[in-house]
Amino acid sequence: MIFVQRRPIYPLIMRLHDFLRGHLKGPILIFNNNSNSSESKFSELTSQAVGRRRFLAGATGIFALATLTACGAEVAPAAVPAEPTADKTVPGTPEEALNALKEGNARFVAGQMTHPHQNAETREEVAGHQAPWALVHGCVDSRVSPEIVFDQGIGDLFVTRTAGNVLDDTLVGSMEFAVSAPYSVPVLVILGHTACGAVTGTVKALKDDPKNPSLPGEMNDFAQEIAPVARKVAEHGTETEHIDAVVRANTVAVAQGLLKRSAIVRKAVEEGKTKVVAAVYNLETGTVDWEVAA
Ligand SMILES: [Zn+2]
Repeated sequence: MIFVQRRPIYPLIMRLHDFLRGHLKGPILIFNNNSNSSESKFSELTSQAVGRRRFLAGATGIFALATLTACGAEVAPAAVPAEPTADKTVPGTPEEALNALKEGNARFVAGQMTHPHQNAETREEVAGHQAPWALVHGCVDSRVSPEIVFDQGIGDLFVTRTAGNVLDDTLVGSMEFAVSAPYSVPVLVILGHTACGAVTGTVKALKDDPKNPSLPGEMNDFAQEIAPVARKVAEHGTETEHIDAVVRANTVAVAQGLLKRSAIVRKAVEEGKTKVVAAVYNLETGTVDWEVAA
């Protein structure tokens, strides 16, 4: 996995590059110890003449020689700033991926987001190759954007969304795409959320017409997916509590339905490569209940 190896070192190299551009005068000499070559060579590069991708290519060791304008030293030792924790590893197992999502959500809840992988360097890095490590299937609700509530960036997550986070064939195909090589995402999260409008609308349609609940137009599609689940949830507590109970049941039903519909996802789970998790996001607190039961 070239990407896994590159991600930790890429920002370091670019920070060194930016550091040198900001502090040194004259061209930057890059010692390029290319592992594919029998001999090492010096390349003379200027920041204007070389793109960031090319700057990175093949470099396994970098030494910079130039003239410091500030102190007049002939040789400047490279000072590389500490790397943020979020960039150190890419989750490779279901447990690591879940932990990364949990940690990101904890940052979001605490208002201490780091907004990882949302800069120009990451955009350029992932333009030619992506290696996301999770798929999150959630609701279209504007308040539950996975990259935000899990504090992730570009290239981190596959995301699919429908009203009420229901499934159809195209969506199942999208998930099979994510759990297949070369991506093989280690975790697939079905993410419902409290006070879901699609669930609320379906519950209301059921009250209006218990035998034939329906919503206008193509919205009826998600109502027909949610209604059978909602029927099984006994009314209890407040209306809000009842809606949230249906949300949990629907989220679990979607996760179970995915495993039932897709032999590819099932196989990935049976082989331990992927974990399918039902979770519910709380609109008020920003927290996520993981591995919910109906
Ligand atoms: Zn919703």
